[in-house]
Amino acid sequence: MRWQNQTLDADDGALPGLSRAGFVRTVQTPEFEGITFHEVLCKSALNKMPTPGTAAGGAGGVGKPSSTLPFQWTINPMRGCSHACRYCFARPTHEYLDLDAGRDFDAQIVVKTNIAAVLRKELGRRSWQRDPVALGTNTDPYQRAEGRYRLMPGIIRALTDSGTPFSILTKGTLLRRDLPLLTLAAREVPVSVAVSIAILDQELHGGLESGTPSPRARLDMVRALTDAGFAVHVMVAPVIPYLTDGRAHLDELFGAIAAAGATSAVAFPMHLRGSTRGWFLGWLAETHPALLRRYRQLYGRGAYVTPEYATWLRERVAPLLGRHGLTRDGGATAAPARTAEPGDAVDTQLALFA
Ligand code: SF4
Repeated sequence: MRWQNQTLDADDGALPGLSRAGFVRTVQTPEFEGITFHEVLCKSALNKMPTPGTAAGGAGGVGKPSSTLPFQWTINPMRGCSHACRYCFARPTHEYLDLDAGRDFDAQIVVKTNIAAVLRKELGRRSWQRDPVALGTNTDPYQRAEGRYRLMPGIIRALTDSGTPFSILTKGTLLRRDLPLLTLAAREVPVSVAVSIAILDQELHGGLESGTPSPRARLDMVRALTDAGFAVHVMVAPVIPYLTDGRAHLDELFGAIAAAGATSAVAFPMHLRGSTRGWFLGWLAETHPALLRRYRQLYGRGAYVTPEYATWLRERVAPLLGRHGLTRDGGATAAPARTAEPGDAVDTQLALFA
């Protein structure tokens, strides 16, 4: 790996920042069998999004102009994600580290162990404008490694103490550990939380998101967040063409999301950029070979579904959202004991991310 022989004072936190990472050590422990952690010291915690119209938005590259995103800053405490979603758009970013976008992305996790301290320093600068900051735009901040490294409490405290609004998108039920802290934070700054739940079927969940908590556990987390006073937004993303786009599945899923207390939801079709495409289609060829031809027609050689399919899905989803009393937009930022104010909303942005 490129960064293995680097010194301790590098890494600017930006792609392909880890080519200059401050590698400290590699760790394997029995509690995380099959996973290798690479601890690094980062030099910067806040990542600035590209200026409007210049490039793909998002550290993972979502293929949208950054001008469409209501946040300019992101924080990515880790690289790689043990949640191991086959469709993960962030997979190609691992190749910047000379790691592969398949199994390495799932099992070789780079951890910025000093990120909270670095962040606090950056937020303390007089030039910091307290712009909204998004977490979960590249890899999941509440993946399993967070249980070992406990980076998020320090990040949450640093953001809160500096008066910075922030949002979190996650599939990780480990977030519940920090719920008391998030509730306190939301009394001081706008905080929004979005949960990603795209699949109810157990077998598909096991095949496509093998490292994530079960859909039921994530729905229970939505309930816990709702009970704590958050207006929870759920991302039904990605919708997997011909596997999870059936009316019955979507109806059941939106019903479960609404029953868990979420106020809003969106659904987006899967896109398959770069090496994610091969990783996903390899799985499809093994498990649903009959669908390969239809996928070739749907995606052609590109990363996105045809406009016809996108329109079809939108039209299928809209009435189901209404039927279950869910709005499409996340709306105002959840902030227990605090009224949302203009400019607070930072919670719909992650709709662009699978
Ligand atoms: S949880 Fe998110 S970041 Fe992690 S593998 Fe799945 S899609 Fe990628």
